[in-house]
Amino acid sequence: MTDQEIFSDLSRIGKRLFTEHLVGGNFGNMSARYADGYFITRTGSYLDADPAQAVLMPLNGRVTPGASSEWRVHTAIYNEAEQHAAVVHAHPAHAVALSLLVEDEIRTIDSEGKMLAPSITVVDGAPGTQELADAVAKGLRSANVVIARGHGTFAAGKDLDQAYLFTSLAEHCCKILHYTKLYRQ
Ligand SMILES: [Zn+2]
Repeated sequence: MTDQEIFSDLSRIGKRLFTEHLVGGNFGNMSARYADGYFITRTGSYLDADPAQAVLMPLNGRVTPGASSEWRVHTAIYNEAEQHAAVVHAHPAHAVALSLLVEDEIRTIDSEGKMLAPSITVVDGAPGTQELADAVAKGLRSANVVIARGHGTFAAGKDLDQAYLFTSLAEHCCKILHYTKLYRQ
């Protein structure tokens, strides 16, 4: 992909995440592989802001000024779950709430969930730490989405669209679990 194609995807997916209420609170961040590193959204930036402001990070851990404060997670995913070429981190409310009530996984019950993500791993680690980065990267070695407990989703895939789809899927599955519980009462 060219840098312009990545900026265009960042803009399109950022707007979707924003309008679909998947990045409440302090927004989230996105990245996509490019050359020997990856483009990542700027720290504190709105995901529907100008995508050309994204910064290029190398994979060797040197930090580019302005990179999202969650760059450690993105670097760990690209280094350890090598099949992934893009990452979306969001804060969807139902997924975050449910992650606080389970031990280490969420078993999905709707047909889409059972097909694409029958079990969503919940990992621990404070925002910005290497502990979180390692746990997320390990979880994404054999999956497309994990949830950082009480924090948000980290989804990865072959491109930003696939990472977005798994973000949306995780929230949808958690909504279904929530509503079925409510209806049973
Ligand atoms: Zn976050």
